[in-house]
Amino acid sequence: MDFPSIPQAKHVLNMTNQAIAATQQLRTTVTNVFEFLRDGMNADENSTQSSSNQFLQRYQELLQAVNKDFTELEKLGNAMTTVPELSVTPLGPAGQLGMESSADDNSLFQNTLLAYQWYTKSHSRGQIAHSTFHAYKRTTSTSATSLLKARRGLVSNPPQTVKPHHFPANQLDNYLSNMLPRQVPDLSIKVIFSLGSTRILHITVEHVFFALISFKSLYIEKIIVRGLDEDILNQAENPDMFTSSRYECMRQITDHATSALLYVDHYPQLQIDLKPRFILTWLQNYKTLFSDSCNKCGKILSAGVPPTWRDFKTHAPYHSTCK
Ligand SMILES: [Zn+2]
Repeated sequence: MDFPSIPQAKHVLNMTNQAIAATQQLRTTVTNVFEFLRDGMNADENSTQSSSNQFLQRYQELLQAVNKDFTELEKLGNAMTTVPELSVTPLGPAGQLGMESSADDNSLFQNTLLAYQWYTKSHSRGQIAHSTFHAYKRTTSTSATSLLKARRGLVSNPPQTVKPHHFPANQLDNYLSNMLPRQVPDLSIKVIFSLGSTRILHITVEHVFFALISFKSLYIEKIIVRGLDEDILNQAENPDMFTSSRYECMRQITDHATSALLYVDHYPQLQIDLKPRFILTWLQNYKTLFSDSCNKCGKILSAGVPPTWRDFKTHAPYHSTCK
């Protein structure tokens, strides 16, 4: 990968500085013209022909100065409008990301995910190597058997092998009540049921709908979406995870959210807390459910229902029939 060299970056910076200086210079010369015109000619000079000529000559000089500074700035501007080569963009290839119009045409998401997984894996192995090294240092004075035991103990329990079902209970409540809400600031999140390792979250998407999400430890088991005027609890005063919404639109979103759960399960290597974050970040996009138009047909309503599908990668809105 070619990143811009320091001299190239310096050159771009230098040009920018020159352009700023030229703009300031132009402002000064233009101000001179206006100040000169504001002051005008002295009353006693008005009568003589020579003083009038002198005035016009000075005026001409000032205008020429403006013209010169403007030409200078224009030259700098023209030199800077050339499209930079990939290798000289200050951000390197990352600078080109914003220029790609359709996210579906590239495999950016998959590549980023793969890179992230590699990073997580190497981080985890680095931690194991670090601990093993320290264990080795501690046990060099003791027998080889104890070293072997220490190694086995560390290798069989690396931090990344924690499964979502076995997330420590003492950290679960802190994660669901404090950390998760900070990651999705547009949602209002309340834990409304807590028993053993089961938690049910009541999530309000602004003025659009509420969702009930059932967690078994950090694993999301079920998600159901209903309208804000519908009941949260059943007759036994427990969170109602089963009654479908009476609105077609909310029933469709429930189906799509269930697909989203299946979708994240395709990435078993993802760090366990990334799955809830993915689902909630995706849900956040429904805050504009009733004002978004479909990315395919361009309409807001199709068969009386707004675009209820949000793409998992781009979060773009589509009708269920248009996706
Ligand atoms: Zn559509």
